[in-house]
Amino acid sequence: KTFEELNLSPELLRGLYSEMGFEKPSKIQAISLPMILTPPYQNLIAQAHNGSGKTTCFVLGMLSRVDPKIAAPQALCVCPTRELAMQNQEVLVKMGKHTGITSVCAVPTDAGNYVSTSRRGPVNDQVVIGTPGTLKKWMSTKVLSTRHIKILVFDEADHMLAQDGFQDDSLRIIRDIQKNRDDCQILLFSATYDENVKQFTTRVISKANQVFV
Ligand code: AMP
Repeated sequence: KTFEELNLSPELLRGLYSEMGFEKPSKIQAISLPMILTPPYQNLIAQAHNGSGKTTCFVLGMLSRVDPKIAAPQALCVCPTRELAMQNQEVLVKMGKHTGITSVCAVPTDAGNYVSTSRRGPVNDQVVIGTPGTLKKWMSTKVLSTRHIKILVFDEADHMLAQDGFQDDSLRIIRDIQKNRDDCQILLFSATYDENVKQFTTRVISKANQVFV
């Protein structure tokens, strides 16, 4: 399989080849990208370890589905830690260099980054990557509108669901999005498929393809 066979825009192919230096899809990418990128944009639960190339799967999913001409958040990525959120954003910025798509990190900072964002007004970047608590806070204070969110990603779901409060926060985030649209695509990545993850997925993801790599 090649990246050309995946219906990616020329801008994203350029990002993959020139910016990332990738030549061909890894195994998880070859299996899951057709499901992620092709209508009817199915949900996906993927059991994948770090190093499998999972980040590229959801970053391409988000970059392909959002419209840079619309100044509103359309893709949301929920991460268990601030470090992972920032790392994922770095990949997204690099891979999406030629797309004109912008992103913002919704993570706690020492000074409370949430305040400065709220002063700037509502988020108008297409992609938001953050931790559950800060995302929830941004939503409840109307800094982050979920009205246009059509793709929702959970990265390292096992780590996230193991943390106190993050399960509730994640449920709130999903419910808030589904209030507006029940066709939001959900991608969930987890290194293990433990009881927590199983329960969470059956609760919130109605129909999903499962991939084990
Ligand atoms: P991940 O599992 O997403 O953390 O990716 C692990 C590492 O593999 C990262 O350093 C990526 O840059 C790299 N990688 C991901 N996809 C590919 C690919 N298709 N070809 C070469 N390297 C890749």
